Amino acid sequence: MFGEGKGLGKTILGGKGKNLSEMVEMGLPIPMGFTISTETCDIYYKNNKTYPQQVIDEIEENLKRLEKHMGKKLGDAQDPLLVSVRSGAADSMPGMMDTVLNLGLNDQSIQGLIAKTGNERFARDSYRRFLQMFGDVVMEVPHHDFEHALQTIKDKKGVKLDTELGIEDLKEVVTAYKAAIQKATGKMFPNDGREQLKMAVDAVFNSWNNDRAIVYRRLNDIKGLLGTAVNIQSMVFGNMGETSGTGVCFTRNPSTGENKFYGEFLMNAQGEDVVAGIRTPLEIQELDKVMPDCYKELVKIYQGLEKHYKDMQDMEFTIQEGKLYILQTRNGKRTAAAAVKMAVDMVNEGLIDEKTGVLRVKPEQLDALLHKQINPESKKTAELLTKGLPASPGAAVGQIVFSAQAAHDRNETGKKVVLVRTETSPEDIVGMVASQGILTARGGMTSHAAVVARGMGKCCVAGASEIAVDEHAKTLNVKGKTFNEGDVITLDGSTGEVFAGSLQTMDPELSGDFATLMTWADKYRKLGIRTNADTPHDSEVARKFGAEGIGLCRTEHMFFAEDRIKAVREMILADDVDGRKKALAKLLPFQKEDFLGIFKAMAGLPVTIRFLDPPLHEFLPQEEKDIVELSQIMNVDLETLKKKIEDLHEFNPMLGHRGCRLVITYPEIAEMQTEAVISAACELQKQGIEVHPEIMIPLVGFKSELDFNVEIVHRVAKETIARYGIDLEYKVGTMIEVPRGAVTADKVAETAEFFSFGTNDLTQMSLGFSRDDAGKFIKEYVVKNIFEKDPFQTLDVDGVGQLVQMAVDKGRKTRPNIKLGICGEHGGDPQSIEFCHKVGLNYVSCSPFRVPIARLAAAHAALK
Ligand code: ADP
Ligand code: MG
Ligand code: MG
Repeated sequence: MFGEGKGLGKTILGGKGKNLSEMVEMGLPIPMGFTISTETCDIYYKNNKTYPQQVIDEIEENLKRLEKHMGKKLGDAQDPLLVSVRSGAADSMPGMMDTVLNLGLNDQSIQGLIAKTGNERFARDSYRRFLQMFGDVVMEVPHHDFEHALQTIKDKKGVKLDTELGIEDLKEVVTAYKAAIQKATGKMFPNDGREQLKMAVDAVFNSWNNDRAIVYRRLNDIKGLLGTAVNIQSMVFGNMGETSGTGVCFTRNPSTGENKFYGEFLMNAQGEDVVAGIRTPLEIQELDKVMPDCYKELVKIYQGLEKHYKDMQDMEFTIQEGKLYILQTRNGKRTAAAAVKMAVDMVNEGLIDEKTGVLRVKPEQLDALLHKQINPESKKTAELLTKGLPASPGAAVGQIVFSAQAAHDRNETGKKVVLVRTETSPEDIVGMVASQGILTARGGMTSHAAVVARGMGKCCVAGASEIAVDEHAKTLNVKGKTFNEGDVITLDGSTGEVFAGSLQTMDPELSGDFATLMTWADKYRKLGIRTNADTPHDSEVARKFGAEGIGLCRTEHMFFAEDRIKAVREMILADDVDGRKKALAKLLPFQKEDFLGIFKAMAGLPVTIRFLDPPLHEFLPQEEKDIVELSQIMNVDLETLKKKIEDLHEFNPMLGHRGCRLVITYPEIAEMQTEAVISAACELQKQGIEVHPEIMIPLVGFKSELDFNVEIVHRVAKETIARYGIDLEYKVGTMIEVPRGAVTADKVAETAEFFSFGTNDLTQMSLGFSRDDAGKFIKEYVVKNIFEKDPFQTLDVDGVGQLVQMAVDKGRKTRPNIKLGICGEHGGDPQSIEFCHKVGLNYVSCSPFRVPIARLAAAHAALK
């Protein structure tokens, strides 16, 4: 029973059950009820969707206690007890599982309800709501059947709103609903309350594994739960008339984080009405005017709950004839911006400590903050179509689609889409994932679309009431203008604006609370954070984001630029060393220029420069017409050129002539690159700018390969430094990305002064999965649970991680002060960063925009 849950955490009671029990203990006004544990759900699934008699007995026992407590009986013809049957897992999954309200009604008990309440309209309304929910959730009748039946009656009576239906109309609706159930299922709607209850409990258990719940858990990385709990709770009614109502509220603004009571309510309505976005609700502050006593009590309760849970609460309440009841509280979902603001505010208010504040913001969440906004300049000339509610911030530019399926399909073909719906239902989740943003015509800030979009960090404009969406005709009408599927619109989720066409977007400002949180994160993290950057511009961006150096500067990107590719091709096509040297001499000033820029942008910080990595044929054209053109520019015979390109062709370029292997054949490439790096460094040092070059040799599997490369580097560096007549410190190290390099790391470390784990290649070669091709089938692996995660996104700790661990141990054994970092894609992935922290790397390196995420993830790893 609620109030007796002490010592049983949310793992067993579910979040909803645990908090209901706790709130009863606190003496808050909670409708009484009891919880069937998540363990029962686990048993249910393990026993082929049945449970032992003991469970049935215990439900009956507690139902009797509840009946006694309430002084009413389930299904009673005189004074019936009505209950809700509510799902609730340990992690909250809003709207993903099922709930049934008003259970216990039938043709007899409704008479009791009418007699007891003296409110026949209310009783009939509750009955039809129950039939609809029970029919939909428990008996799996398509909800369209009910909508259709209701609409038919509304049309016949000439009314628009449900609330305009009278007693006789509602009787008709009930009859129509029962017919719909029988037609769709061939079964009668069950009259017996206990039978209804058993069926509803099973349905809630089943909803644990419905499609949208599974997708939601996958997206939110919710794993290892036993299942859902079921809460059987006596009903309170927000639909008893104008002194009744229901609402959802947040102790702080979940969109901006502002410390101001926030929420929505509807009078004469039942819970689902607010979140389903059927009518557009009123702001919570309005409640102070309608029912001042309830409002004041609610304020007192929310303040108490926030103090108790030390976090922003998302609450559900219902007012029955002027009396307030709380139906749920949980830590509220919030946007990234709100998460940051609340964390900083709560630390400043003394509600939580700094470490808790840092842990309150999920690293992945920052991604949304680092996301784009619409350029205000481009708004000036844009066509503003309408304004809805700013439900989830960010900007979305994309082609209109009207269904989850269309969103998914178009997205698969590489198109950016915006999902436009009258209102979204939880089934739309797949389409929401595939979209840049979501636009709905109906629903408030707490509507399903808004909640889910915020959780995903997706831009969403909700309740844009001036738009009319025809999902069948696939048209969007707004103020006399029609848009079709495929037309482009732009959403601003921070203002609620909707524009025609595609607007320019821009990167966000990162100061204030964000900067404060980052300072705290830096205080607790142990890992250094570097960036992968190939240009002075990227270096500057990354430095602003807090990068402490460059962990990977790829030199080949510099070879592709228009003014250089010619010299590169000349080098590749040259017949002999002299020819190559001549071409390389042309490249030298360009490379040096690049390094000057990057060193300057990273003054005072280490810069790891990786020597040429890709196979040479990547620099040559493949198309006939480009080859012809090249032969003319280069003044080489077409056939000779074709032969040369053919010679360079590789069947398996990823395992081909690349990285340090190139230098074995063409030492002059490493000579040129060393000269460019070292002379740029010398020049700057002479000007008083601090430089810390680190030259990194890629694709080393053998110490002897590294030795060959390093000998060249040291020789040329020595000559160059001597020419400048100064002292310059530099390091030479290697990537660990060939499994053999990891296994022989003790040997490799005799030469290498640092290791940087190239986990993209290391994963590719350890798994034998081509990273360029595996994308096509890895998704299947994840869906079918063969892989927990894509190993190219999150480091395969058990496999590739072991190689990393081994190389760390062996490397340190040979060279205790060896510097260790990671520069693969994984360097920006929070879970992989946690691993890097555990194995004791010195730093991680990631793309500039992920630097703040990595800083926070590193702090989390240290604090956990
Ligand atoms: P969800 O987890 O999807 O929010 P809930 O179990 O919270 O589902 O229930 C859905 C809606 O029904 C909520 O608005 C809730 O407030 C309302 N509700 C649930 N139980 C009761 C009850 N005993 N009395 C009145 N309203 C209820
Ligand atoms: Mg709820
Ligand atoms: Mg590599």
